Amino acid sequence: MTAVPLPAAAPASPGLRVRRALPWAALVLLLLVAQSLLVALTIDYEASRKQEQVEAVSGAAAAQLRHNVGTRLQELQALLWSEVSQPQWQRDAAQLLHAHPDLLRIERRDADGRILEATDSAQQPPLFTRIPRAGLSLDSELACVSARRNLTPSLSRSYFVPRDDGLGIEVIDACVPVTRRGQLDGTLVATIGLSALLDGAITAEQSRVHELSLVEGDGTRLARAGLPRGLGVFVAERPVDLPGLTLQLRVDSTATRPQLIPNLATALVLGLSLALFGVVLLLARDVRRRARAETQLAEALALRKAMEDSLVTGLRARGLDGRLGYVNPAFCAMVGYSADELLGTYPPPYWPPEMRDEYAQRQARRLDAGQSVADAREGYETLFQRKSGERFPVMIYEAPLVDGGGRHTGWMSAVVDVSAQRRVEELSRQQQERLQAAARLATVGEMASLLSHELNQPLSAIASYASGSLNLLQQPDAQTPGQLQQAMARIAEQAERAGRVIKSVHNFVRRREQAHEVISTERLIDAVLPLVRLQARKSGTRIAIDVPHPSPRVKCDRTMVEQVLLNLARNGIQAMEEATPLPARVLTLRVRQAQPRWVAFSVIDHGPGIAPDVAQRLFTPFFTTRHEGMGLGLSLCRTVIEQHGGALDFGVTPATASEPAGTEFRFTLPADSKPEQRA
Ligand code: ADP
Repeated sequence: MTAVPLPAAAPASPGLRVRRALPWAALVLLLLVAQSLLVALTIDYEASRKQEQVEAVSGAAAAQLRHNVGTRLQELQALLWSEVSQPQWQRDAAQLLHAHPDLLRIERRDADGRILEATDSAQQPPLFTRIPRAGLSLDSELACVSARRNLTPSLSRSYFVPRDDGLGIEVIDACVPVTRRGQLDGTLVATIGLSALLDGAITAEQSRVHELSLVEGDGTRLARAGLPRGLGVFVAERPVDLPGLTLQLRVDSTATRPQLIPNLATALVLGLSLALFGVVLLLARDVRRRARAETQLAEALALRKAMEDSLVTGLRARGLDGRLGYVNPAFCAMVGYSADELLGTYPPPYWPPEMRDEYAQRQARRLDAGQSVADAREGYETLFQRKSGERFPVMIYEAPLVDGGGRHTGWMSAVVDVSAQRRVEELSRQQQERLQAAARLATVGEMASLLSHELNQPLSAIASYASGSLNLLQQPDAQTPGQLQQAMARIAEQAERAGRVIKSVHNFVRRREQAHEVISTERLIDAVLPLVRLQARKSGTRIAIDVPHPSPRVKCDRTMVEQVLLNLARNGIQAMEEATPLPARVLTLRVRQAQPRWVAFSVIDHGPGIAPDVAQRLFTPFFTTRHEGMGLGLSLCRTVIEQHGGALDFGVTPATASEPAGTEFRFTLPADSKPEQRA
């Protein structure tokens, strides 16, 4: 195998393309939806996580605030326990102020609210330089009243203390009642800076990313802590319950609302990774499937190649331009050219040079007719030439090459070398011919006594006319010339009669050259009639000829068909020789145009008919019921008729009022409508 011009793969139909694209479109859509959902969920999750963070910070800071305030109040109370001298109290208070930056000032007041002792924090400038502090503000006073009444520490509402540097500070006062031996002995008033208090309640880490504020109910900010400014996106507010005072703690995160872009990117990366993974899986599956298909294809190709290589039938493919696109090894071996010498050639080298024009025309006709060549698959016989120059007959069966898209792309031919078959056929034809000739000679041999009798009559007539003529010459008289002339005429007549017999035998026996000729049925019957009559005369049989005028013409091998006619006629006459009464001994030779294409011959006798056991073996070679018969007649007759494409059979003719029953042998020959060509 060399080149394989496989038909071009057909483009996928639109329907198929849509079916293939659908799963991919669905996959892409699903991926998009999944990714969008993922992004939305991620953003939502992140937002709630940040909110939770802020809530947690606010909770922790509020608890710390409460704890710090509680601790301050306890320490302030501890300051009261010591019965100390004035300097000692001062030291203890200063120590406390030093320990806690949120404590700004500690005052000791008597029961009437007058300041007994006061110590300011050393870390801060003195607090009350710009506003008087002798009397407490209303809010502080209220807190102290409450403390004194309940004998528990109480905190005042916050108030603003301006400072010398133009700024100010928001503070609260813690009033701790002082009792001595069960009697109220004054109050301890500690001023606490809210900012410092707040600073002390949060860790450094919290202050880095959160802004914490203490606000009033109306939203007024009293103090703030934390390095940055909050953005107002994630905010948590929580009340801080202190003794006598409730503050609102507000935590504002610096975190922005979760951004779509960075999250989208994350989701995209995630989604794409998943998609990539999926695609890789798909690809792997596809590759596996392709590999399997390739293996199957390779196996199929190997099988096809092995089959093609082992084929004895030549295969060739031709394109629409008539050029060879493919040849198999058997074809190359048949014509003796290599595939390279054949492919792409036009005209191909195996066309005999003198027939190239004819073959080219035939090919052009075939191509014009396209795929619809009716006999394409039936095959046709033609002659090829081997590289050695030897001619050989081939049988070609062609089929149109149609590609996947239904387009006619050329012709595929199976080429069979029929030279051996033709040789055998020729041999068998020659043998058949020899057999026919032998059978004809045998027939003549069988008719030898009839012939000798037929020849004897004119010969003895000639002899007697000759001796009569001699006598006349020995005793001539006046009438001698006239009588001699008459005798000579008779001699010539008889000689001609004998000559006719000899000629009819000769015509019957000799083999004519022309195999098939067109001839009228009348002439065919006329040719055998002398011999038929010869046979009939012996048994007193009459011959009836029933041929229409003008007689139909047939195309046949004349010698052969004459032999068939004579055989059937002789059989009929012989069948009537014994049992048939003399008046009924009539042999009818009938010709009818059965169909436009066929002419039917009938040979009808009124013999005893054919027994069933004889009928079964009638056409078996060498079957005969006669001593002198060869039994070849009917088998040869059938062969001859079938070689002409016709059929030979027999049947019973029923008895009529005028004729007894009999046997009818029928055969058909192809009719010819063309004018008769006389050989
Ligand atoms: P043959 O004439 O040498 O016997 P055939 O093949 O012509 O060989 O005939 C075979 C046999 O068929 C004959 O011997 C005869 O018995 C029978 N037969 C042929 N034609 C007829 C006929 N018209 N009527 C009866 N029998 C026939």
